[in-house]
Amino acid sequence: MKKTHIAIAASAVITLGLSGCSSLASTPDNSSDGKLQVSASFYPIAWLTEQIGGDEVDVTLITPGNVEPHDFELSPKDIAKLEDADTIIYVPDFQPSLDDAVALISGPTILDLTSTVDLVPLSEDTDGNHSVASEEESADGHSTTDPHFWLDPHRMEAAAGAIEKQLATSDPENADLFAANLSTVQTSLSDLDDSLAAGLQTCERRTIVASHSAFGYFADRYDLEQVSISGIDPESEPSPADLAAMKKVIESTGSTTVFTEELVSSKTADALATETGATTKVLNTLEAQPEDGDYVSAMTDNLSALRTALDCQ
Ligand SMILES: [Zn+2]
Repeated sequence: MKKTHIAIAASAVITLGLSGCSSLASTPDNSSDGKLQVSASFYPIAWLTEQIGGDEVDVTLITPGNVEPHDFELSPKDIAKLEDADTIIYVPDFQPSLDDAVALISGPTILDLTSTVDLVPLSEDTDGNHSVASEEESADGHSTTDPHFWLDPHRMEAAAGAIEKQLATSDPENADLFAANLSTVQTSLSDLDDSLAAGLQTCERRTIVASHSAFGYFADRYDLEQVSISGIDPESEPSPADLAAMKKVIESTGSTTVFTEELVSSKTADALATETGATTKVLNTLEAQPEDGDYVSAMTDNLSALRTALDCQ
């Protein structure tokens, strides 16, 4: 029921968001303002593209900003609109509906970020990811790799390089601007990486109790461990055995915080927190646009939430 509600809301937002655009051919020169038209699959990718493209690129968010992207369903109208883009930037094996759409359309140039960013197969898993449900999903064939690279600023730097290369190829006249913007965003990502590493270096506990397994690469990068209520897909339901295992981990690690997400029900997290005497707090998966601020400020808020939860020095 919740999914249907989200899909309807998402279609409404997309329709409103694009109602001002005319139907355009897919070459840059035919665009309304001559700018490169880029459709980015969801928030962190759109943010990165905006940082690099600056004023010379029009970026459209394919998944509306307030919608959980995993199960976002594109309507036939949404798919038709994608044909108007010069370039589509996306992460395969993350949004099945978008994977299908990309296979259907032929006009735009497609940038698959997984061709550059190093992703870990789900069967191998990341060292920090001890999700109770991920193996089950892997067996379904729903995802073959963990897509959540955007929570690792280092991998975001790699994605930024791929985006800059693509923009410069599509719009060589602005290549110098894109290169300069790339350098700025990479410095900002590198600074963020440094603060996260320093802020999470010395902590009483090192286990993140997450709502779904979004923090595998993050945990890996900062030498933390992730346990999660759901697996890679936030809508997957944990079994009673999974929940019992979670309760055990929370107790054995002395965890005091069960993290929740803004766009996913916190019912199970609330119950687990009550049973174990922990509290709940939001940890931003950056899968949707933050209510305030941007990627860097939301990641900085996450650092602050984690430092409290893990009792870092
Ligand atoms: Zn996710």
